[in-house]
Amino acid sequence: MQVFDINKTSGARFGEDLQGLENWSDKEDTLDLLQSFRLETSFYFKPFFKSTFTNTSKSVDLITKVPLFYLVKRGISSNSLDQVLLNQAEKNGVNVHFDKTIPVNEADIIATGPFNKKPAAFGQGITFKTNHKDISVSIINNSTSCLAYAYLLVADGHGCIATVLFDDFTNAKNYLKESIKTFEKITRITYENTRPFGSFGNFSLQPEYKDGDALLVGEAAGLQDFLAGFGMKTAIKSGYLAARSIIENTDYQEIAKREFSDYLKAGIVNRYLFEKDAKHHHKLFLSGIERPDFPEILQSLYNFNKYQRRLYPLAYRYIKKKYPKVLGKTAKTVHL
Ligand SMILES: Cc1cc2nc3c(=O)[nH]c(=O)nc-3n(C[C@H](O)[C@H](O)[C@H](O)COP(=O)(O)OP(=O)(O)OC[C@H]3O[C@@H](n4cnc5c(N)ncnc54)[C@H](O)[C@@H]3O)c2cc1C
Repeated sequence: MQVFDINKTSGARFGEDLQGLENWSDKEDTLDLLQSFRLETSFYFKPFFKSTFTNTSKSVDLITKVPLFYLVKRGISSNSLDQVLLNQAEKNGVNVHFDKTIPVNEADIIATGPFNKKPAAFGQGITFKTNHKDISVSIINNSTSCLAYAYLLVADGHGCIATVLFDDFTNAKNYLKESIKTFEKITRITYENTRPFGSFGNFSLQPEYKDGDALLVGEAAGLQDFLAGFGMKTAIKSGYLAARSIIENTDYQEIAKREFSDYLKAGIVNRYLFEKDAKHHHKLFLSGIERPDFPEILQSLYNFNKYQRRLYPLAYRYIKKKYPKVLGKTAKTVHL
C-alpha cells in the first residue's frame, strides 16, 4: 500500500499541542474502539476524569466515572499519536512517501485534513513546559474566544493554552493574549519554553464522501464535531470504514452516511444552542454541567436525541444563514 503526504513527516501540521480524543459520544470506550480497528494504542495518552468549565463568574467541575477524554500529543515527537500510527503502518508494510502528493484521480482515499479555503474555525495557542499538576480548564466567554472556548491542558509537565474562534479570525492574537492572561490569573500557572501553534478547521454538514472515485475521510470530508471542533475520532473511524469498504467492495458513501448523518445533525443543533446561550454568558451550558446526569445528557446530545430532532429545522435555518459554506457539499480537495 502506498501513502503520500505533502509534509515532511506525520504530524508536521501540528505543534506538539495536546488534543482530547473524546470519550463521551458513545458507550464504547474510544481506546477499545481503536483497538477493535487493530490499532495499537501505544501512543502517549492520559485519561481525564475531571474538566473545569468557567465563564469566569461561575466555575463548574465536570467529573466523570469513565474518562471524559484521553489527552494525546499531536506533532512529530516520537510518542505523538501521528508518529506512533505512522510507525505501526510502516511496520505493517505500508510505504509512506513524504514531501509528495498525487492527483485526486489517482487516489483511492483522500485524508488530507482541512481544506484551507475559507475555514470555519481557527485555533491558535502556545505549548510549554510546566511544574503545574495535570489540569483541564475551558473558559467560555466572549473575550477569550469567539463563539467557542479557550482551553488550558496540562499532562505530565507538558501543557498548552489555546483559543478557538468561529468568527473574527483577524483578532486571534488578542483573544489568545486574553486567554493566557485569564488562565494565569485563575490557575496561577507558571511555565517556560513556550512555542506557538495554530491551525484551522473545516466542517461539512452534508458531505458527499467522494471526490470522483476517491473516498473522502476525516476532515477532508469535513467530518468534525461542529460544536467544539473534535475531529480525531471521526477521522480514524471514517478512515477505517473507507479502507474496509475497499477490501469488502461495499458502498462507503452509504456506510458513512449511516454512521455520521445523525452525528452531524446533532452538531448543527448543538452549535445553534451554544451560540444562543453565548448571549446569556453560557449560563444554560454551565448549569447543565452541574447536573449529576450530565454525562448521559452529553452522550445523548451527540446522538441526535428526540429534542434535537424537534429543534433541527430551526437550528438548520440559523446555521444556513450564519455558515452557508458549511451546509454546502464537501469542498473539493482543490489543493491537491
Ligand atoms: C488547534 C487545534 C486543536 C484541536 N483539538 C482537537 C481535540 O482536542 N480533539 C479532537 O478530536 N480534534 C481536535 N482538533 C481537530 C483534529 O486535529 C482534526 O480534526 C484531525 O486531525 C483530522 O484528522 P485528518 O486525518 O482528517 O487530518 P490531519 O490530521 O490534518 O492529517 C492530514 C494529513 O494529510 C497531509 N496532507 C495535507 N494535504 C495533502 C496533500 N495535498 N497531499 C498529500 N498529503 C496531504 C497532511 O500533511 C497530514 O499529514 C484540533 C484541531 C486544531 C487545529
